[in-house]
This record gives sequence, structure tokens and C-alpha cells, in this order.
Amino acid sequence: MFQAPGPGSKITVTTRFPTKSIHHPSGFKDNVTTGTVMKSFRGDPPHTFRMSTTSIHHPVARVDLAYVIDMVGDVTKKQADSGVRSYNVKGKNGDYVVTNVNRKWSCTCDGFMYRHTCSHIREVTLLEHEEHYKGLKIVGSRTS
Ligand SMILES: [Zn+2]
Repeated sequence: MFQAPGPGSKITVTTRFPTKSIHHPSGFKDNVTTGTVMKSFRGDPPHTFRMSTTSIHHPVARVDLAYVIDMVGDVTKKQADSGVRSYNVKGKNGDYVVTNVNRKWSCTCDGFMYRHTCSHIREVTLLEHEEHYKGLKIVGSRTS
């Protein structure tokens, strides 16, 4: 089952429901919804989330995760909000993972073990600053 995305995530979600309609010989009806995840209301079941839709008649959809078969888009927001950021960095001698947990950087390379900082962390912090000033999302491989 998919995880509920955090509020503010921009996603396209596909839900699949069984149907006996002759218009759906497969026996399933798929619904595709694109929009922004909203805060849950008090009393909403925990396996559901609310999102805006492009429909004028139904501007808010409550999505039940049990029926979600696909979810794409900026669904990383929840992890980013949890204070953990993680990047894959290509180094000269291999690939490393640079992680920021509650504003503390770490890297999986040998250099970090000895010096507690390394070129990979510098690379990622520079990239983050650049993206921050441009107001853009970070492009590249991101593990969470
Ligand atoms: Zn490193």
C-alpha cells in the first residue's frame, strides 16, 4: 500500500475500483486525479487523505489508500518535512550517500570518517543553496 503524502505534495494519483459496468469489460474502473494534498480533517480515517482536484463539481477528493494503484509527483515532501534529506553523489571512487538529519550532515565516504566533512557534502550544500536562491526543486537523484 502507498504511504499518505504530506500536505502540500503535488501528485497525480490513480485509484482502481471493481465495477460491473459493461463500459469497463476489465471489471475495473480507474480514476486519475491531479492536485495538491490538503491537511486531513479531524475524524478522517488514517488510511485516507484529502487532495484538491481539477473538477469544479468535486474540488476536494478524499482518497482511500487501499484503492490507490499509482501515485506520482512530488510525494517526497513528507520525508523532507521530517528533517531528513538524502542525496546520491557520484564521487571519483564510487557513489556515496550524503544525508542531513536535523541539520547534521553525514556522508558514507572514507574522508568523512576521518575529517567529519568531505567534498560530497560541500557539493550538496552548494547545490541546495543554489536551488534555494533560484526557488527551484533540486534536480538529480534524491533517495528520499
Ligand atoms: Zn563524502
